[in-house]
Parts: sequence; structure tokens; C-alpha cells
Amino acid sequence: MTAPTATTGTSPAPAAPSTEEIRKAPKVLLHDHLDGGLRAASVIDLADAVGYGALPTRDPEELAGWFLGAAHSGSLVRYLETFGHTVAVMQTAEALVRVAAEAAEDLAADGVVYAEVRFAPELHVEQGLALPDVVEAVLEGFRVGTARAAEQGHTIKVGCLLTAMRHAARSREIAELAVRYRDAGVAGFDIAGAEKGFPPTRHLDAFEYVRQQNAHVTIHAGEAFGLPSIWEAVQWCGADRLGHGVRIVDDITVRSDGTAELGRLAAWVRDMRIPLEMCPTSNVHTGAATSLADHPIGLLRDLRFRVTVNTDNRLMSGCSMTSEMAALVETFGYGWADLQWFTVNSMKSAFIHFDERLALIEDVIKPGYAAAMARP
Ligand SMILES: [Zn+2]
Repeated sequence: MTAPTATTGTSPAPAAPSTEEIRKAPKVLLHDHLDGGLRAASVIDLADAVGYGALPTRDPEELAGWFLGAAHSGSLVRYLETFGHTVAVMQTAEALVRVAAEAAEDLAADGVVYAEVRFAPELHVEQGLALPDVVEAVLEGFRVGTARAAEQGHTIKVGCLLTAMRHAARSREIAELAVRYRDAGVAGFDIAGAEKGFPPTRHLDAFEYVRQQNAHVTIHAGEAFGLPSIWEAVQWCGADRLGHGVRIVDDITVRSDGTAELGRLAAWVRDMRIPLEMCPTSNVHTGAATSLADHPIGLLRDLRFRVTVNTDNRLMSGCSMTSEMAALVETFGYGWADLQWFTVNSMKSAFIHFDERLALIEDVIKPGYAAAMARP
């Protein structure tokens, strides 16, 4: 007996999820930078408040376009310049509270029900804040934003990840800060910044400290640099998750018949269900992928790696969780079942306790997608 082939004609294929439907569906975000997600209008307000005069324009729409243009430019120097502006206006407690509150509000309005937003405390001390002041201001902002979102009828839980800059030497301090604030809303520890020349093992003592404290680690790896970076992150630094991890495809060979052969590192990452925090639009902007259609997320999803979908920098890439998912629907023909799979993957991979993850999956995510699928 042969298995029945797909039927044709009788029942029409379900319509692809529309952008508005995707916005209403519950979504989970694990990789989003606080200094990459400001509202353009707030960048201008905050620049005025602190007397920062170096913005390229004072018109919010033009400024949003400028950020997007710089992200698209293909020049890493121009891309990094954008963070010079956002970080410059995030140097006071008031500014950090405002930016964090707006981030929580914007994510909630976009249908995100759980988010881990990351930032590097060491970048926000230029005007005298101490590292703990920075963390406390951001956590306060998330509380304010979450409460405002609730008033608007959106329920969101927001935690944060503390990032250390890989070219700097403060990772141990930041790791200690992450552990100190673990019960106040800090979910884990991360390193970010130029990958090439700054391998994660430079920060081994920070990672060992975090793990010995039974706390969580994610590492930006395999975005701008290849397999050695991923291997160090996983096998030396004990990364629970990989930021991007796009280059894991370098360890996968697709044969002419379409089957795939995984190298030992790729097999390890898949076998151990190590989550890949993929950020499709951002990966195209930074050159980690040549186009959305060529983005490894298609192959990695087919091979059932623990793939998650994320925004990275909403301002610079002009994106949201909704737009990322809509782009994947358009590019890869994904339907609701795929979007639910990505979302459950993300929730399973969150740095909160198992019972909290399970509750969000069972009480929020599954009913949300069931409702979306049931709509005519
Ligand atoms: Zn990132």
C-alpha cells in the first residue's frame, strides 16, 4: 500500500495568516536589544533633554528612515554609528525608565506575551550612573510599561538579559550583576559586540561564574563569524542558547537528493535542543544572510533545530515580531502551525522556570493559535 497523496480540489488550502491576524496571535521574543528598539520620536525628545546635538535630523519620520537606511547600507561602520546615537541619549535613569517602558508597551501592543530584552549596563554609565543604577532603572521601566500595557488590555511579561561587551573587560562584573538581580527581573547573561577577534573564551571566568550560580547564559555566536565561535560558545562557555547561530549551516551538507548530513557540531546543537535565536531581517541587514529567501532559517526549520524567531533591533531594522513572522509567511509559505511551532520553541527556551513556561504555553499560546486557526 502506498500512502495517500495530498488531495487536490475538494478542500481549499487555508488562507495564509495576514499581518493583522499575526499581530493578534501570542508571540514570544528572546533576542531584542533595548538600545536598538527606541521610538524615533523618543530619540529626539531624549536628545533635547540631555543636550545631545549630533542626530542627523530632528524629524521623527526622517530619523526612522535614516536608521533603516544605515542598517541597509551594508557598511558595518554606519550600522554601528546608529547605536552611538541611541546609547548617547540613554545615560540617565529617567531616559532608561522611559525607553524600557516604551519597549514593553510597544512589544505588548504587537502581541508579544513574553519577552527577554537585553542591554549592556556598561554602555550607560557615561554620565555618572553606577551599573546597579542602570539595571534598576531599566527594571523600573519594564514595570511601568507592563502596567500601561495592562491598562490598554495587553498582558506581557518582560524580563531582561544583561550583556557584556566582548571587546571590553567587564564581563565578570556584569555576570555578577546578572546573578545579583536574578529575582528582580534579570533572566540571564549575554555577550555581544564584534565577534571576530574576540572569542567567547576571553570571558570564560564570567561564564563559569554564571553557571556555578545555576544561572543562564546566551552568547552572540555564529552571526559574523563561523563555526569556531559557535563551538567555543557551546563547548567551552556552556551557552544555553545561541544568539543568531546562523553559521551552524556551515556544518551541514545538503546532498543532491535533498537530504542533509550534519557535522558533529551541528548534530550536537540539534541533539541537545540548543535554541537558535534567529533574527531574519537583521541577519540580512548585517550580511549574515544574503536574502530572506536564502536565510538558513528555512533549512534549519526543516531539519527541526530548535529555531526561534526574533527582532534583534526593531528601530534599525524597521521590524517587529509581527513583521518578522509575516515576512517568513510570505517567503517560506509558513502557516499557523509553523508560527505556533516557532512560538512554542521560544517559550520552551525562555530563561524562566519550567512551570512558568508551561503555563504560558498551555494557557496563552496554544489557545491563542487554536483561536487563530479556527477563524474562517
Ligand atoms: Zn543581537
